[in-house]
Amino acid sequence: MPELPEVETIARQLRELVVDRTISDFSSSWVRLTEPEPASVFAARLRGRTITGVRRRGKFVVFDLDDGDALVVSLRMTGKLLYGVDGVDERYVRGEIAFTDGTALRFSDTRKFGRMAIVDAATLDAVPEPRRPRMPLHSSLGQEPLERRFTAAWLRELLRRRSRAAIKPLLLDQRAIAGIGNIYAIEALWRARIHPLRQAGSLRIDEIERLHEAIKWALRKGIRLGGASRRDYVDARGREGRMQREFQVYGRAGEPCPRCGRPILRTVVGGRGTFHCPHCQRSPARRRARQGRR
Ligand SMILES: [Zn+2]
Repeated sequence: MPELPEVETIARQLRELVVDRTISDFSSSWVRLTEPEPASVFAARLRGRTITGVRRRGKFVVFDLDDGDALVVSLRMTGKLLYGVDGVDERYVRGEIAFTDGTALRFSDTRKFGRMAIVDAATLDAVPEPRRPRMPLHSSLGQEPLERRFTAAWLRELLRRRSRAAIKPLLLDQRAIAGIGNIYAIEALWRARIHPLRQAGSLRIDEIERLHEAIKWALRKGIRLGGASRRDYVDARGREGRMQREFQVYGRAGEPCPRCGRPILRTVVGGRGTFHCPHCQRSPARRRARQGRR
């Protein structure tokens, strides 16, 4: 499933490819892609609109339109936004945005979990408020972790407010921090030497500072390497990323920890496969036992 670095890679590429193009038509062969609106309503709203920008918010690709609206695309498991790519398997093309110059942006999605919505662009940047009515796709998205406002102090305040949560599921909560998924949470926790099951409120200030740095390190590395291709992810030009070659612990159960050489362990946390080094990232129970001995 694409996370922040994969979606950022796609958005940056599409910015070069589709900004200033004017939409001539929209079509969809999969009714749930634009639910609750029918594709015909989407087509009417998009026809004649010029794309003024492409960006990422959380794990969503956002196309800003010249009327103040934005087309928001959730790739979910297998969604791909492809522009100028030859040999696309027609069976999996669920939607197509045609441009007045004869080119097209196609949405391919084998498993059909991807979704699109047209929203007021201003709502995407709003600070989340619990009482705001739920918007399609992007209800209450949290802090962007690569923006200036994501500071160690901000993270400390989040961990204080959510002190009873286990740290890894908290990092995956899109209402808290937007864009981090399983892979980058695992890599960041390894770098920060924090066990995935630690209670958020138990982290010391130096650990929070390490985690803050590690989150940005993992995400920036992913962007630099064009994202991680496991199973389905390809970028807007149909190419795989390189991050999967550079994982420190993700998918490396039994292999030596790059820091201490001891074998990486695979566990399940909050229903998600998780990897960590039991030596560098001490479990909460073992930490308590050590503290008890002191
Ligand atoms: Zn280790």
